Amino acid sequence: MANQRMLGFVHTAQRMPDKRPASERREDFAEIYARFSDERANEQANRCSQCGVPFCQVHCPVSNNIPDWLKLTAEGRLEEAYEVSQATNNFPEICGRICPQDRLCEGNCVIEQSTHGAVTIGSVEKYINDTAWDNGWVKPRKPARELGLSVGVIGAGPAGLAAAEELRAKGYEVHVYDRYDRMGGLLVYGIPGFKLEKNVVERRVQLLADAGVVFHPNFEVGRDATLPELRRRHVAVLVATGVYKARDIQAPGCGLGNIVPALEYLTTSNKVGLGDTVEAYADGSLNAAGKKVVVLGGGDTAMDCVRTAIRQGATSVKCLYRRDRKNMPGSQREVAHAEEEGVEFIWQAAPEGFTGDSVVTGVRAVRIHLGVADATGRQTPQVIEGSEFTVEADLVIKALGFEPEDLPAMFAEPELKVTRWGTLPIDFRSKMTNLDGVFAAGDIVRGASLVVWAIRDGRDAADAIHAYAQAKAETLVAQAAE
Ligand SMILES: Cc1cc2nc3c(=O)[nH]c(=O)nc-3n(C[C@H](O)[C@H](O)[C@H](O)COP(=O)(O)OP(=O)(O)OC[C@H]3O[C@@H](n4cnc5c(N)ncnc54)[C@H](O)[C@@H]3O)c2cc1C
Ligand code: SF4
Repeated sequence: MANQRMLGFVHTAQRMPDKRPASERREDFAEIYARFSDERANEQANRCSQCGVPFCQVHCPVSNNIPDWLKLTAEGRLEEAYEVSQATNNFPEICGRICPQDRLCEGNCVIEQSTHGAVTIGSVEKYINDTAWDNGWVKPRKPARELGLSVGVIGAGPAGLAAAEELRAKGYEVHVYDRYDRMGGLLVYGIPGFKLEKNVVERRVQLLADAGVVFHPNFEVGRDATLPELRRRHVAVLVATGVYKARDIQAPGCGLGNIVPALEYLTTSNKVGLGDTVEAYADGSLNAAGKKVVVLGGGDTAMDCVRTAIRQGATSVKCLYRRDRKNMPGSQREVAHAEEEGVEFIWQAAPEGFTGDSVVTGVRAVRIHLGVADATGRQTPQVIEGSEFTVEADLVIKALGFEPEDLPAMFAEPELKVTRWGTLPIDFRSKMTNLDGVFAAGDIVRGASLVVWAIRDGRDAADAIHAYAQAKAETLVAQAAE
C-alpha cells in the first residue's frame, strides 16, 4: 500500500520539512526549515489526489502545473519535475520558500478541504528546484538569436527580473536599472534571511547576468536618467519600481527618537547580514539589541520586523494590531513562527500616541472592538472608551503599509498617468501605461502585493513587450519599403 503511486493521503499524514527549534532559530538569520529528504519529498508528493480540476493550480498566480510535478516527484523523475516546474515560474525555489501557501495553492488543496491536511506543495517546489541547482540542471536561458532590439527595465525586484529573463530568452538586449547597489528588490533588502537566504537570490541574479542581461546598479531613474531619456534609448521600457513610500502615523509624540520605519529597519538588518557596515546599526538607532521593541501593524512586514528584533537580541518584542488574529493580513504560519520565537501579540489594540522626552519610552494605546462588517466584509474597528493603556518601549517600528512614490515627478515625466492611489494604470491586454512603449508590472501596478504576483506580472509584461516590439519592427520595415 505504501508504494501506491499517488492518492497517498489516505495512509500518509501531512509532514512539513524539519523545522529548527525556536531556541536555535532565535540565535541566527538562517532559514528555519530544512530541505525535505528524498524519501520525505517522495512520500509527501505521493499524497496528491491528482484532481481533474486542480484547485491548487487555479489558485497559484503563475498557474504552476502542480499535480504534474508532484507526480513526477513521487516517481523519482526529478529532472522532469524541474522542467515542468520552471516552465511556469522564473523563481520557483523562492516561491516555495516565501509564498503564503496557506492562502494560495495549499489553502485550496482538495485534501485540505477534506480535513486530511494539504499536500505540502511549497516545500516540494523548493525541494525540486534546490535539487536542480545542486545537480547543475539550472542553466542560463541564452537566446537562439539576437533580435537587435533593446528593452529597459526599471527596478530589479521579482517583476523586473522575471521580465528581464523572459525578454532575454526571446533575444532582446535587456538593461535593468536599479537604484540599489544589489539586484533583487525586496527579495534582497526587504525579506529577512530566515525566510529567504540571500545566496538563493544572488545565484538567480548571476544566472540572468550569465544569460546576458545587463545590470546597472546604483542607477536611479529620475537622478541618473529621466524616463524620456530611457524611452529614447530603448524600444520599450518596463516600470517595475515597487511601492516604497511608508504609511505614517500622526499622533502626539510621533516625532520622538527611536520611532523608525519598518523598511529602513529591515534593509539595515539585511545589509548587515550581507556583510556591510551600516552606521545606524552600529550606533544602535536601527538595532533592537537590549531594547523593548513594539511593532505597529499586522502584515508580512510587521511579522518580519518582530522576528528580526528577536534575533537581534531585543529584551522583549510586542506586536500591536488593531484587529484580531483571524483578520490580520499577515500569513498565519508566520504568526505561529513569531509566537514560537517569543513574540507577544497584543490583538485589538491601536496606538494613540507616544510617551517620552526626546526618545520614545512607551506607546499609548486603546482597546478596539470589532463592529459590524463594512462593504468589504471586514469588521469595522471601534475604540472602546476608557480602555487606554501604555506599553513600555525604547524602539518602535512602524509597519503600517506602503504606497507608491510620486512617479511622474520622480521620473520627470508629467504625462505619465497614475491612479488616485499613485499606482500605474495599465491596459488590461497590452499591459501598457498611457505612454506609448512604457509598460508596468508588479507592486507599482497592484499596490503592495506578493512576490509570486510580481513574477506573473513580469512574465505577462514580457509577452506584451514582445508583441509590441515585433509590431513596431514590422511597421518600420513596411515604412522603409514604401
Ligand atoms: C518586509 C517585506 C516582507 C515581505 N514578505 C513577503 C513574503 O514573505 N512573501 C511574498 O510573496 N511577498 C512578500 N512581500 C511582498 C513582496 O516583496 C513584493 O510584493 C514584491 O517584492 C514586489 O515586487 P516588485 O518587483 O514589484 O518590486 P520590488 O521588489 O519592490 O522591487 C522594485 C525595485 O525597483 C527599484 N526602484 C524603485 N524606484 C527606482 C528608481 N527610480 N530607479 C531605479 N530603481 C528603482 C527598487 O530599488 C527595487 O529594487 C514582502 C514585502 C515586504 C516589504
Ligand atoms: S508559486 Fe506559490 S502559489 Fe504557486 S505553487 Fe508555488 S508556492 Fe504555491
